[in-house]
Amino acid sequence: MPEPTALHGFPLSDLQRLFARHGVPAHQARLAFQALHRHGILEPERMPAISDKCRKFLRSWPPLPRLSLDAVHRAQDGTTKLRLKTLDGHMLEAVVIPANRRTTLCVSSQIGCAAGCAFCHTGTMGLTRNLDAWEIIEQYRIANEILAAPGQSQVANQKSRITNVVFMGMGEPLHNLASVVQACRVLNEDLGAGLSRRHIVVSTAGVGDRICSFWEQGVASLAVSLHATTDELRGQLAPLSRRWNLAALREILLSIPWRNRESVTVAYLLLDGLNGTRDDARRLAEWLKGLPAKLNLLEFNPYPGCRFRRTSPEKLAAFRQWLYEFGVFNTLRHSRGGDVLAACGQLAGRAPSR
Ligand code: SF4
Repeated sequence: MPEPTALHGFPLSDLQRLFARHGVPAHQARLAFQALHRHGILEPERMPAISDKCRKFLRSWPPLPRLSLDAVHRAQDGTTKLRLKTLDGHMLEAVVIPANRRTTLCVSSQIGCAAGCAFCHTGTMGLTRNLDAWEIIEQYRIANEILAAPGQSQVANQKSRITNVVFMGMGEPLHNLASVVQACRVLNEDLGAGLSRRHIVVSTAGVGDRICSFWEQGVASLAVSLHATTDELRGQLAPLSRRWNLAALREILLSIPWRNRESVTVAYLLLDGLNGTRDDARRLAEWLKGLPAKLNLLEFNPYPGCRFRRTSPEKLAAFRQWLYEFGVFNTLRHSRGGDVLAACGQLAGRAPSR
């Protein structure tokens, strides 16, 4: 098996094995991992506390690859979209979403996406390629670097480090399962980011045959997009749902032996005139029955050329009320960063037009 070159894309246990093969002690691998992921230092010369032998070993390696920061777009609400360039010249986007007690990073897992959801800007691009684990980790490192720069905090009590990661940027994470799980393992590690399963959310449009294997890894929480209560509409909105219809998806989720107090987030995007009737609320309540699910309603974020419209606040309130009547507690995720196309479903690796 060839040895890895992008060492910052590998979990600690892999690094320790690699270091051991080259005669470098395990505790030196821990110090190097800490420098990489706690402090964001990629150059062996700058790593604190590592031994001369470890530094020499790291210097014998090709320089660790990086993403380059191409543009930063800051929205009025403090949401910041980072446009990053890969070594092979592709653009991807990550979004820093500050709030009072947390700072969430929305990461991309692919360049483009093959899922082709009708309401999503990324879905119009098609798939170019999967991201490697190190390219996902780089989004985290660069976001922290920006947050740590003086004068960056625009929100009261904003954390100067990323506290949560959501895989809701460009790409369908379960279409790139191996790299996503590997990146989560790196982020989980206490010596590095220290983000537990509860602090990372992997969101899928419903890739049914990979949901269980993802869940078994135990590296992140799961969110599943529903967006419709009939197979016909869901098939139009999210083409991959034709393979795993509502009943099949529900069966898959019911088959999971959920851990204590664990739940799946079910995302439901409200689209004006399409999926917000009383019947939809009733069918949604029936679908959710028996699942350890939290329902998260989303507002649509328009992008240039899209054919969908956002539901009015009155219709949204009515839909929420019907859900309550049918016994479904729900939360509304407010749209953030829409003025710089940084909101959910708006990412496409392009600059907002001014
Ligand atoms: S919503 Fe997600 S899965 Fe669907 S096309 Fe967009 S990026 Fe892909």
